[in-house]
This record gives sequence, C-alpha cells and structure tokens, in this order.
Amino acid sequence: MRPINHVLISAGVTAIFSVWVRSWTAIGACFLSGIFIDLDHHLDYYLAKKKIPFNYKKLDHFCKKEREAKIYLFLHSYEFLALLWVTIFLFKLNVIWIGIAVGCTTHVLCDEVANPLRPLSYFFTYRFLIGFKREYFFKKGYRDE
Ligand SMILES: [Zn+2]
Repeated sequence: MRPINHVLISAGVTAIFSVWVRSWTAIGACFLSGIFIDLDHHLDYYLAKKKIPFNYKKLDHFCKKEREAKIYLFLHSYEFLALLWVTIFLFKLNVIWIGIAVGCTTHVLCDEVANPLRPLSYFFTYRFLIGFKREYFFKKGYRDE
C-alpha cells in the first residue's frame, strides 16, 4: 500500500480514536504509528544492501521487485501485534500505548487486504519457517509482472 494511503487511513482511524481519547500524545502516537510502522521496510533494505534507502523509488522497487533480498518485516506481524496488545493489558500501559497499538494494527490489517500476499505472510512464524524468502511471501505471479 502506498504511503499516502496509509496517511489517509491513519488520519481517519485517529479521528475515530480521538472521539474516546483526550490525550494529544496518544492521538499523535496513533497517527504516527499507523504510518511509521513501515520503517521496517527500511530495515530490510538496510540488511540487504548495507545502506539506508533515502530514495522512495529505490525502496519501493526493493519492496516489490527485488528477488534476492529477504523479507523480515519485524513489525508487520500478527505475533508482534498480539504481544503489543497483551503487554498493554497485562501491564495496564497507558493510552499512548493503546494509540500505538491501534495505529499499528490498522496499518497491518490494511496492508493485509491491499497487498498481493499469501494468506499467512504477515505471520512472522510463517516467514521464519520459509526462510524469509520472497517467493513464498507474495502471491504466485505477482513478482513476474
Ligand atoms: Zn506496511
């Protein structure tokens, strides 16, 4: 999903979140986490290329077409989201953490719907079991365009 779509969706979700929350910090955390969770794409790029991607087109090409690099996406995982939500409730973390969790969860669910992924691709355990290989991450035929 393109960054502008994440910005728009995150703004909408944050607007709804702000109906119940009176903390500007939590509202900001919700909005920003719904966008900047994508920084794990930068980490994948860095791990593959040993340099930081400052050019969006290069990063986009890397995410969609790079055949050799592995897909770790540490934050795009249901295990991470579950751990975040369980930690919030077990340790009764404040509303800022709930904002972060709402933003991240919304982002991953939207990516799940919008991106051409195999059904289990956003489970970190699945990616670990397939050796983080791209050929099992995207739907068959997607990378051959
Ligand atoms: Zn994403």
